Amino acid sequence: QKPIEHAKADRVLRAVERRDLKDTPPKCVTYKEYRAQGGYRLLAECLAGKHDPEQLVKVMEDSGLKGLGGAGFPAGRKWRIVRSEPAPRMMAVNIDEGEPGTFKDRYYLERDPHRFLEGAIIAAWVCGVSEIYIYLRDEYHGCREMLARELEALKKNPPCALPPIYLRRGAGAYICGEESAMIESIEGKRGMPRLRPPYVAQVGLFGLPTLEHNFETLYWVRDILEKGAAWYTSHGRRGRTGLRSFSVSGRVKKPGVKLAPAGITVKELIDEYCGGMLDGHEFYAYLPGGASGGILPASMGDLPLDFGTLEPYGCFVGSMAVIVLSDKDKARDAARNLMAFFHDESCGQCTPCRVGTAKALALLEQPKWNVPLLEELSRAMMDASICGLGQAAPNPVKSVIKFFPKEIE
Ligand code: SF4
Repeated sequence: QKPIEHAKADRVLRAVERRDLKDTPPKCVTYKEYRAQGGYRLLAECLAGKHDPEQLVKVMEDSGLKGLGGAGFPAGRKWRIVRSEPAPRMMAVNIDEGEPGTFKDRYYLERDPHRFLEGAIIAAWVCGVSEIYIYLRDEYHGCREMLARELEALKKNPPCALPPIYLRRGAGAYICGEESAMIESIEGKRGMPRLRPPYVAQVGLFGLPTLEHNFETLYWVRDILEKGAAWYTSHGRRGRTGLRSFSVSGRVKKPGVKLAPAGITVKELIDEYCGGMLDGHEFYAYLPGGASGGILPASMGDLPLDFGTLEPYGCFVGSMAVIVLSDKDKARDAARNLMAFFHDESCGQCTPCRVGTAKALALLEQPKWNVPLLEELSRAMMDASICGLGQAAPNPVKSVIKFFPKEIE
């Protein structure tokens, strides 16, 4: 097949993006406007020695801010680990937002890019990072142009001395959202996950200790450091604390990014934030965490949506992409489509995932599911795959077997 040149592919994709968006992208807060609103003051104070890095790590730890790319690892603890590693240290920012149903990073980036940049540079300063690499999803053409422009404005008239900041274009692969595959891709190699240990905090970008963060985690840094950990923890329901940005799609009246308290349930999310179900649709099931987080029935719509709350049911929230299904949908169709997606996006490095997703897809396309065989295959994929893609790919299938047995009888 003849390769399409980059510039031509860009033009085609940009046209598709404009058509799909149906409206013009929102105007972002520019560098000038952000500065006028008090932006970069905190960063300048840090570099002027007015804040103690140790104190800032403590605030982050007290806030309980978790990695919002899906893993949920405490951000403050990550800062402490990377700080304790020998210099030089690197930073890699993950904006390769490719999880089906997830669009929160793009939503915030399009509106307030400097809030994220300030958070990233503060994190870099606290952890003694020498260089920042931002890895942006290839399909986000509008964001790339805007971010390049805003970075230029920041570098032209910096509020203080800045570390080198590089904007790297994603490789158009879902697997490059996996942190070690992203690092491989930034290094110019094919994006394939690494075996761990060693963890990227110790041996990451260019073999150096690396602070790896999702976009949204850094987006909240300025607010938490300025308003205090107590401000962040004052939000929450059912004993969970903090704020969560849910990307809600599917059969609801008002889909979109919904900033809600941690611990909210899907029923509350639909009713309080999404204007209820679409007319003529009855709530049937939901995907709490995009493609990999499994599928739950409406009867389990009162579970708190947060890190660690859905694992006992074989599900997880990940990057908080909630896809709502109605009585017009079938969970088994969703599971089949998701397996096709994983099969397509498997990097092919390990057999349980490369061959497993192909075998599973063929089994799911049968009118009657061979449940014992699917369960055995799922077990092998979960136990023996190198990374989260192969390990989590069987989740939707397992959910259907467990919670929707009528669909596959
Ligand atoms: Fe690649 Fe899949 Fe193996 Fe991950 S599990 S390394 S995506 S083949």
